[in-house]
Amino acid sequence: MKCPACGSVDSRVLDSRPVDDDSSIRRRRECPVCGRRFTTYEVVDTLPVTVIKRDGGREFFNKQKLAAGIARACQKRPVDAEAVASSIEADLQNGLVSEISSKDLGDLVLERLQRIDVVSYIRFASVYREFQDIDSFMAEIKRISKKAKTHPVKTEIKEEKNDD
Ligand SMILES: [Zn+2]
Repeated sequence: MKCPACGSVDSRVLDSRPVDDDSSIRRRRECPVCGRRFTTYEVVDTLPVTVIKRDGGREFFNKQKLAAGIARACQKRPVDAEAVASSIEADLQNGLVSEISSKDLGDLVLERLQRIDVVSYIRFASVYREFQDIDSFMAEIKRISKKAKTHPVKTEIKEEKNDD
């Protein structure tokens, strides 16, 4: 890190400490050439992801908002909404996605809920996919139960054990 006083490119770190809920690190540095002390902050570089809504509107991806939406569908269910939202955020960041439609975002949630808890999956799908009638709802249930046969859902087995 270049010294702000003499421009020397070398500096010695005297102290590092996490700040802002561990989301950044503050480093106290000293220039070995002129002795000037200065502070730098290290933060994770996140890409803003734009969500394109059904009505064509755009907003920045907001993990808290997504987690709140998931939590509403997963009330009293064994689902960590925050963890699901974090894993989706990580996927978007790792995939260097800069834009995603709200439909695709919802599909990422459903993909995860399907593996964690079928009840939450159905609740989220019913809000999110806005089933127009009972037939489309039943078609979705059939689709899930077909998939569940090939990939047994662990949560349901766990719950049966809990009832003992
Ligand atoms: Zn210096």
